[in-house]
Amino acid sequence: MTETTETTRPFDAEVGRLLDLVVHSLYSEREIFLRELVANAADAIDRRRFLALSDESLALPEDASIRISVDKEARTITIADDGIGMTAEDLASHLGTIARSGTRAFTETLADAKPEERPSLIGQFGVGFYSAFMVADTVEMISRRAGTTAAHKWTSDGRGGYRIAEATRDTPGSDVILHIKPDADEYLEPVRLETILRKWADHISVPIRIERDGK
Ligand code: ADP
Ligand code: MG
Repeated sequence: MTETTETTRPFDAEVGRLLDLVVHSLYSEREIFLRELVANAADAIDRRRFLALSDESLALPEDASIRISVDKEARTITIADDGIGMTAEDLASHLGTIARSGTRAFTETLADAKPEERPSLIGQFGVGFYSAFMVADTVEMISRRAGTTAAHKWTSDGRGGYRIAEATRDTPGSDVILHIKPDADEYLEPVRLETILRKWADHISVPIRIERDGK
């Protein structure tokens, strides 16, 4: 049975340590949050394309893309994709625990690394999603697994834990909604996001659009 309780569930102890590390030691590189989230969106689209080879009910829409939108008034950035999506169980296991045992190695390597080496380390160690908390005080992920109709919303303030609730989404895929911190205003400028993408996401083969909603 899909668990959809609204109660806050604690992160794994390792996730807590990792979050602390990412948020506090990579401050000067925090623009890489966008690279990490766009990479995840592109991975999810690739994965859906691959799984659709043996299950055509998972087929990608022809115009599959990654959409980044800014709502200045609401102070949010949303990264939407047409990827494989996640079930409630996926949300809990992929975003609440660290499947890999690399946290300690990451901690040690990061401490020894030169500042300019850190952005690539954070990618190598697969801690990408949590980099969202460098610029956001709350992160929501609304996701619907391809081949299913139910959607769920994962929400966290990156402190102790997360909540998962039922949600709706018209099509399969995911929306990551970042509630931008007061000191991270610069990322609410579409031009700034474009610059980051040009620097870090030039190699992504999926179309990426920057949209501006709100006012
Ligand atoms: P990595 O990308 O190295 O696996 P991340 O921390 O970036 O590590 O992401 C953790 C996991 O969360 C991914 O492996 C994937 O299973 C899931 N995930 C993250 N973003 C998405 C997304 N947009 N769509 C589907 N799954 C996602
Ligand atoms: Mg990633």
